[in-house]
Amino acid sequence: MVRTPPRPVKRKVGPAGAALGHPLPAAPSAQRSAIALPVPSPMKAALYSEFASPFGIERIDDPAPPADGVVLRVTATGVCRSDWHGWMGHDADISLPNVPGHEMAGVVEAVGRDVRLWKPGDRATVPFVCACGSCPQCASGNHQVCDRQCQPGFTHWGSFAQYVALHRADTNLVRLPEEMDDVTAASLGCRFTTSFRAVVDQARVAAGEWVAVHGCGGVGLSAVMIARALGANVVAVDISEKKLAFARDLGARATIDASACDDVAAAVREASGGGAHASIDALGSAATCFASVACLRKRGRHVQVGLMLAEDSRPPVPMDRVIAHELEILGSHGMQAHRYPAMMEMIRRGELRPDRLVGRRIALEEAPAALMAMDAFGDTGMTIVTKF
Ligand SMILES: [Zn+2]
Ligand SMILES: [Zn+2]
Repeated sequence: MVRTPPRPVKRKVGPAGAALGHPLPAAPSAQRSAIALPVPSPMKAALYSEFASPFGIERIDDPAPPADGVVLRVTATGVCRSDWHGWMGHDADISLPNVPGHEMAGVVEAVGRDVRLWKPGDRATVPFVCACGSCPQCASGNHQVCDRQCQPGFTHWGSFAQYVALHRADTNLVRLPEEMDDVTAASLGCRFTTSFRAVVDQARVAAGEWVAVHGCGGVGLSAVMIARALGANVVAVDISEKKLAFARDLGARATIDASACDDVAAAVREASGGGAHASIDALGSAATCFASVACLRKRGRHVQVGLMLAEDSRPPVPMDRVIAHELEILGSHGMQAHRYPAMMEMIRRGELRPDRLVGRRIALEEAPAALMAMDAFGDTGMTIVTKF
């Protein structure tokens, strides 16, 4: 993929000795805000220099805002399985060393010279796909698949830090409503917004339809909540009774324990009276992808949301059913900043309660261990870093 901006040469800096410079270019005329920095410089960040090796907190240079971007003082950031994939070395966009973190809320601290809409002190969040705003995809409104996208925590250093630099602020930053707290805002960053686009825009779920949700982690539980808010009947699938109980709490009509079921697709078809109208693979594995396609009724829509990486990247799909039943297979990749207002309005009206999906709150010092444990699927609800 095309990466913007070009990565400058990384450099060693003093006086911390081992600290590494932030791999983002400083805009020559970027202005620091007049506000005194509320944390000591250089900042703290969770930084790994090797894939799949234990890592911790380092002191690294504070970022400077790109000409078209801002520096955000991070007030909350989510720990996501995508970060685990990145740390494992499954994501070709990452070069080392790297600071993970892409689900954030914060306060604008410094603004680049070309930014029109943002000023220090503004509260903001950002989609995990930051778009260029000018390529053919962006021109068609599809910023989530921008040809020149960048992703904090992947193509450049992310929000497991006291500060993060963000690009093209006028295109990508989303203003936070006054009544929304930082933790809730950070919890929207990736899994909730991705689910919103998957259920609302890609699966086009309508009231009265049956929706299957495979995997009840952050994406799946968000999908249960969003589909229910649209008036759909949800069948939730997982291997954890605790997560299935939470899915029922969020309004799932039926739940299926995949660990005690030989044929999940058949069980969903039975529970939904002939098959789901739409089905979301919220986990991302060969088994859940297959079951999600196979559980659909005729002309149903499968949406792949869970990342398919490493050995799961080329899964078997029942294409015989896709043809005979005219099924649709769709991907869903984040959500554009300009679609946030529709979601924010449903949150404001209380139809969506992302705060219910927040689990543990931890300090930055605990973030590396939480990230490294993300493949264990132990926690119900999202883990959010709230102390920096
Ligand atoms: Zn673009
Ligand atoms: Zn994420």
